[in-house]
Amino acid sequence: MSQEVKSTCCYCGVGCGVLIRAEGGVITSVRGDPEHPANLGRLCTKGASLHLTAGTANRLVHPALRPARGEPAQGVAWDDALEHASERFAQIIRTHGPDAVAFYISGQLMTEDYYVFNKLAKGLIGTNNVDTNSRLCMSSAVAGYKQTLGADAPPSCYDDIDQAGVILIAGANPAIAHPIVFRRIEDARVANPDLKVIVVDPRRTESAAIADLHLPIKPGSDIALFNGMLHVMIGEGLIDETYIAEHTEGFAEQAAIVAEYTPMRVAELCGIPASDIVRAARWFATRGPALSLYCQGLNQSAHGTHNNAALIQLHLACGQIGKAGAGPFSLTGQPNAMGGREVGGLANLLSAHRDLANPQHRAEVAALWGIPEVPAKPGKAAVDLFKALASGEIKAVWIACTNPAQSLPHQAAVRAGLANAEFVVLQECFADTDTAAYADLLLPATGWGEKHGTVTNSERRITRVQAAVPPTGEARHDWQIVVDFARRLGRKLDHAAVDRLFPYASVEEIFNEHRASTAGRDLDITGLSYALLEQQGPQQWPFPQGATAGRARLYADGRFPTANGRARFVSVQHQATAEQADKTYPLSLLSGRMRDQWHGMSRTGIVPRLFNLEDEPLLQMHPCDMRHRQLEDGDLVRLFNRRGEIVVRVAAGSGLVRGRTWLPMHWGNRFMNGAGANALLGDAVDPWSQQPELKHTTVEVAKS
Ligand code: SF4
Repeated sequence: MSQEVKSTCCYCGVGCGVLIRAEGGVITSVRGDPEHPANLGRLCTKGASLHLTAGTANRLVHPALRPARGEPAQGVAWDDALEHASERFAQIIRTHGPDAVAFYISGQLMTEDYYVFNKLAKGLIGTNNVDTNSRLCMSSAVAGYKQTLGADAPPSCYDDIDQAGVILIAGANPAIAHPIVFRRIEDARVANPDLKVIVVDPRRTESAAIADLHLPIKPGSDIALFNGMLHVMIGEGLIDETYIAEHTEGFAEQAAIVAEYTPMRVAELCGIPASDIVRAARWFATRGPALSLYCQGLNQSAHGTHNNAALIQLHLACGQIGKAGAGPFSLTGQPNAMGGREVGGLANLLSAHRDLANPQHRAEVAALWGIPEVPAKPGKAAVDLFKALASGEIKAVWIACTNPAQSLPHQAAVRAGLANAEFVVLQECFADTDTAAYADLLLPATGWGEKHGTVTNSERRITRVQAAVPPTGEARHDWQIVVDFARRLGRKLDHAAVDRLFPYASVEEIFNEHRASTAGRDLDITGLSYALLEQQGPQQWPFPQGATAGRARLYADGRFPTANGRARFVSVQHQATAEQADKTYPLSLLSGRMRDQWHGMSRTGIVPRLFNLEDEPLLQMHPCDMRHRQLEDGDLVRLFNRRGEIVVRVAAGSGLVRGRTWLPMHWGNRFMNGAGANALLGDAVDPWSQQPELKHTTVEVAKS
């Protein structure tokens, strides 16, 4: 019998609700959930094609063990697979200690999956070597919020788009990357003709095309721009001195810094007219509620944390936070990067927004889990984790629901790390990702439409995800695989408490334990339950016990979760990109997304209709740069730098300033008979967030 089940789209952080229809155990259609607040029934092309990605095509359907590297993996029973994995991990831990193993997980997982992975690493094994692909995505946003506002909590909500007087979109292209948010911006413009939209992007993107003001800044010069806007606001008396005095600290120090950021100097640093900097500052400060939307253009930078902080400080300076239509709103990249952060899913975090570096927080988590202690030594963040595999410091890695051989920068170094590892486990939905070639053991996981759990979207809204069909083949739920492995490993390591640590018989029991860990924290969800989410629909946190609704906006009372309740201005200065154009590599390469593809394309790449708009990755160049190299539209070119070379077709890009090129990031080896964009992008990281500069490098281009 046909039935519809509530779930979410598994692509971007907008977190659209979907209704999945299934017949006879097969997913037959999908439509937007009209009751879900994130999308009110709308879906973009990717979401509307989700049902075409279900089924067995490209799926990993049974566990498989590779007898030796380079040989085909052989099918193996689940019991044998997990016994083998637990024996290898136990042997490495006994010989080399707990920090010789690591876990690299994913913003695509359910919150409950994340929770048990963290408990396995930090609670059972005693290592903080558990990091995720959210490190590549949101870690600068996390650090930016924490440095300025005191907590990793986006203070705004999607409804603010409808109520804003000015929207500043910086380092984001929602028309392509967050399409349902963009539809809402378009609707807001129709409803309010006075609404001003400012887009800050080195390229004239699809989002910039609708802007009232586009600022095509030099790559990486965001801090200079925001400091320049603050300079203008201070000089013209546009700041909210009362708000600054009552609710912030550190303003005088930052004001002294921005005194040097005159519009003329910033125009030079950013490569845009001084008059546009002044106009942007005036609009931001005077057009009514100011909302900023930002994403990877700020985050994926070697100074990503301060990019975020400099923007957030504009809101603090103008009192544009904690009220309708206003606030610094970081758009989440992945569908559940937020949920992962909530349970401590990064090497420097602990459950419920606790910090590993805080001894009291470690003690609280140890008490919650009933273990003597959580190890204090910081775990390896993503880039360092794979470097440690290459050096032999880490000997075994368990990878779940992500494809680091394609998605991390400096691919050659990452692949060298995987090749050097003694033991690689890949827990995956799909069979032929680039990382699968390096796996000694492949474990099939359930995928979209087959999983239960919860996810949290960009506006802190938690949605209960339901399975529409049974698992494909022998696939198991991610949390089930982790719990089974943890019990086996614990017994091999003579861990007395293993059965008490991993008692779960259902995914709901994990949610309930996570919920209890949030009591009294900024993200308190002690008032939520699976039953409430099913009956009343998705809810925003915090939602403490006794609440009847979540909180749409944070910091309305002007109090922040810092030691003294004040938000902080941190002193931020302009910094250059990690790599600068020179005679050898004179062109900037910017990476970005295409409308109809998602990440490494393991899901969208199997849907023919998603290639209708763009069927290959084109390198976009300024026509003058092409003429200078005697290139014409459609030519195959070599795109190269000190890390590698790829071959792509070139096209004149109308939205580019001379000296800048742009390439979509989706294609990997499977599609290009070579390497993807990440073969060229570097692994310089932000010192606070450890997020790599995936948005920019320098290259040269020549006819192939
Ligand atoms: Fe999915 Fe994002 Fe599109 Fe919504 S906007 S349907 S979450 S890809």
